[in-house]
Amino acid sequence: MTKPIATDGNLFIIAAPSGAGKSSLIRALLERHNDGSMQVSVSCTTRAPRPGEQNGVHYHFLSVDAFQKKIANNEFYEWAQVFDNYYGTSRTVIEQTLAQGIDVFLDIDWQGARQVREAYSACQSVFIVPPSLDALEQRLRNRNQDSDDVIRGRMAKAQGEMSHYHEFDYLLVNDDFDTTLLNLEHIVLARRHRMALQQTRHAATLKDLLANAR
Ligand code: 5GP
Repeated sequence: MTKPIATDGNLFIIAAPSGAGKSSLIRALLERHNDGSMQVSVSCTTRAPRPGEQNGVHYHFLSVDAFQKKIANNEFYEWAQVFDNYYGTSRTVIEQTLAQGIDVFLDIDWQGARQVREAYSACQSVFIVPPSLDALEQRLRNRNQDSDDVIRGRMAKAQGEMSHYHEFDYLLVNDDFDTTLLNLEHIVLARRHRMALQQTRHAATLKDLLANAR
């Protein structure tokens, strides 16, 4: 899967350190465009579900054995080990969704982003950062889920993830949620209006516009 057809959906990679607001932004964007034109890919993971997470909705929760079988069968578009767990994106779902002209969002880490860029150069990648380390720490603490030690570990991992920001096409600083959402939406909408796609979509109009003058 390397050459998109002009009518294919657009593939977007959205990466961020945990606590930057990535999931909320993707969710809000999908709510604003609930016309079936975009979907977020549901990844497979070997990590345990968090409270409230549903199998098949937030993730497909798999055993390590089942995940490794999928790796061996080349079923993943990309996969990586993140925070001691495996995470991966199923190949067929992505390919089928894009072929239907639906935009797909991949909420993945920098390692997965590298693999997707190599497989599909037409993808667009967005990196989201918090406005400061203090803001990031505050957001992680507000979740009320983790001890001080865990927070320290998460902050270190966040900096590791953020060190790859320059590998991405776009950078969003999530200072204000609504502004960041609007900026993310602009990136998506701009991509939807690229020339190759518009030429196919509006072929009849363009032919008419360029016909002999009346
Ligand atoms: P969490 O366990 O907090 O849901 O996710 C941890 C990290 O794994 C996040 O940075 C998330 O973007 C990343 N991740 C989730 N799904 C995938 C995936 O399918 N592939 C890769 N490479 N990373 C993923």
